[in-house]
Amino acid sequence: MSQKKLYITTPIYYINDVPHIGHAYTTVAADVLSRYYKSQGEDVFFLTGVDEHGSKIAEAAKKAGKKPKEFADSLVPRFQQAWKNLNIDYSEFFRTTNPEHEKIVKDTISKLKDLGFIEKRKYTGLYCIACEKFLLPDELVDGCCPDHGTKPTEHSEENYFFLLSKFSDKLLSAIEAGNYQILPESRKNEVVGKIKAGLDDVSISRQKVEWGIPFPGDETQTIYVWIDALINYWSAQEVFNQDNIWPPDIQLMAKDILWFHAIIWPALLMALSLPLPKKIFAHGFFTFGGQKMSKTRGNVLDPNVLVEKFGADAVRYSLLREFPFGEDGDISEEKIAGRYQNELANNIGNLLNRTISMINKYQVKIDQSRKEYSDETISRYPIAEFSKDIENFQFDKILQKILFIAEFANRIIEENKPWELAKNNKEKLEEVLQSVYEFLKLINERISPFMPVTAKKMKKQLETLEPEPLFPRIEK
Ligand SMILES: [Zn+2]
Repeated sequence: MSQKKLYITTPIYYINDVPHIGHAYTTVAADVLSRYYKSQGEDVFFLTGVDEHGSKIAEAAKKAGKKPKEFADSLVPRFQQAWKNLNIDYSEFFRTTNPEHEKIVKDTISKLKDLGFIEKRKYTGLYCIACEKFLLPDELVDGCCPDHGTKPTEHSEENYFFLLSKFSDKLLSAIEAGNYQILPESRKNEVVGKIKAGLDDVSISRQKVEWGIPFPGDETQTIYVWIDALINYWSAQEVFNQDNIWPPDIQLMAKDILWFHAIIWPALLMALSLPLPKKIFAHGFFTFGGQKMSKTRGNVLDPNVLVEKFGADAVRYSLLREFPFGEDGDISEEKIAGRYQNELANNIGNLLNRTISMINKYQVKIDQSRKEYSDETISRYPIAEFSKDIENFQFDKILQKILFIAEFANRIIEENKPWELAKNNKEKLEEVLQSVYEFLKLINERISPFMPVTAKKMKKQLETLEPEPLFPRIEK
């Protein structure tokens, strides 16, 4: 039997519009983790994709004058291109219209029915079309959906219910035992609080939504799009012929869909007697100019536009550098431009450029063959500390620490003035530039999961000693 692969997932994104910066945020974080674990010798299966069913997509398709599948087909390349532009190296791209997936979803529902976890009932509630879910009265803000700012409509129908309430105790003990980690800690507490307050059974079918997978044994209903979507993580094994990935090791998502991932998803797996994911992490929301980013409100930042302007690596860097992963924060083009200029170009880029130029100008012999770092260099950011930071999703701290190394190395240059040493102290000159060269190697290594293209360029320059601007001036 082959060894288990490290299984990392992003949610499958709703394909009712082009990808926005929020999608990019989750996907970049997953890619950083994937690249890091690969660099540590792990075999990684990194899954992303799109969620193609549901009324929201049917509506968007209608507006575009297309059939839902045709509409989804036209948007899939937009997502794939956006990930390509951002240098996302995913293993496979999931589509919920995949026939194998559709069959597995139906089989899963049939099995849950046979096991006695599904019942037919009448349900009346307030429904947000944009969320595709019923909202509870205490979730509303001024009578509106907290995420969309729109009034939900009263909706009543006969649905099939998954008996979620049966799983409260089991969920709590899995979370407490740490078999199933919900991160960050504050989110875990939120989830535990909700479970303790009591779980209601959830409706898992829809009467009026035609664009979906038919409910087994009742063609008047379709399977609720969220249930269909969650099962993608499981059906990926069959769809992509992977027999050594289960359970998922890391599942990333934005906090608005934590409920589905932290409660409904593990309960479904428990009902099926399947092993649970090991870690799920819910990150925060962006505001853009103080306003919440939302498709419905229209202030969506296009990641492709940012990549065109700043390059993929600078966008990846800025997204993860701006605020802690797990908290909310603000982003803007000005902020990215500022980080590009001050941190990337003036600090890291300048350090590389001036060091290589001085090595050439003063004809200093650098020992490039050294595999190990000197104690002084490595103590600035040991691999054990770096690994721990990555495992704790401390992306902003990591980038700050890398930046400190560059600042420190730049200071070594300022203080030792190699241009003076070149006149009277060749030995010291060599020592200083060798030391700075090593710091550059360390920066190169640590930055590589975050900025893969930059790391490659940097490595090449450190080998050939041919300087070239790492972060060219941005045309305004
Ligand atoms: Zn909503």
